[in-house]
Amino acid sequence: MFISFEGIDGCGKSSQAQMLADALRAEGRDVVLTREPGGSVGAEEIRRLLVEGAGERWSPETECLLFTAARRDHLERRILPALKQGQVVVTDRFADSTRIYQGVARGDLRELVDRLHDLMIMTEPDRTFVIDIDPATALARGKARGGTEDRFESLGLDFQEKLATGFRALAREYPKRVRLIDGSGNIADVAARVRAAL
Ligand code: C5P
Repeated sequence: MFISFEGIDGCGKSSQAQMLADALRAEGRDVVLTREPGGSVGAEEIRRLLVEGAGERWSPETECLLFTAARRDHLERRILPALKQGQVVVTDRFADSTRIYQGVARGDLRELVDRLHDLMIMTEPDRTFVIDIDPATALARGKARGGTEDRFESLGLDFQEKLATGFRALAREYPKRVRLIDGSGNIADVAARVRAAL
C-alpha cells in the first residue's frame, strides 16, 4: 500500500505521516516512511539544489524537471522496491505537490507537469491525505516553530492561499484517491481523522 500526505507549508503533514507510520507499525505492519523532495540518496542531493540558495535560482520549468528527476530516483530506488516486498510506503509529499506548486502556484504549468509524470513516473499512491488548513494558521505555526525559512516557504501568504485552493481542487479532481482532512485542532485529533479516512 502506497500512501501520500500533501498540503501547504506548515499544515502538519510531516507529523501526520510520522504518526500514521507509528500507528501502522504498532499494528505489526512493515512501514517505510519517506519524503519528497528527497527520500533516496540521489533525490536528497537534488533537494539541496532545489531548496537552498536565495532568489529565483531556477525557472519554473527547470524546477519541474528537477522535481521529476528527484521523484524518479526516489521511486526507482526506494518506493517501488519497498512496495514489491509488501511494505507499506508512507510519503510526505509526492506528485501532487508538483501538480500544485509548479503546476498551479508558481506558473501555469500543469500540462508540462502531467506530461512529465506520464513519461517518467506513471505511479499514483493508493490513498492521498491532503491536510487542509487555513494558510494564516499554517504560517503562524511555522513562525512559532522558529525554523529557518527556505526559498519556497518565504513566498508568503498569497502563495500559500493559491496552494490551499489548488490542493482543494485536487481533492475534487481525484475523488477516489484524495481525501481532504481537516487540519485544525491538535495533532491527535487530526491523526484520528486520518485513521478514520483510511
Ligand atoms: O515539505 P517540505 O517542507 O519538506 O518541502 C520542501 C520545500 O519544497 C517546501 O518549502 C515546499 O514548499 C517546496 N516544494 C515545492 N514544490 C514541490 C514540493 C515541495 O516548491 N513539488
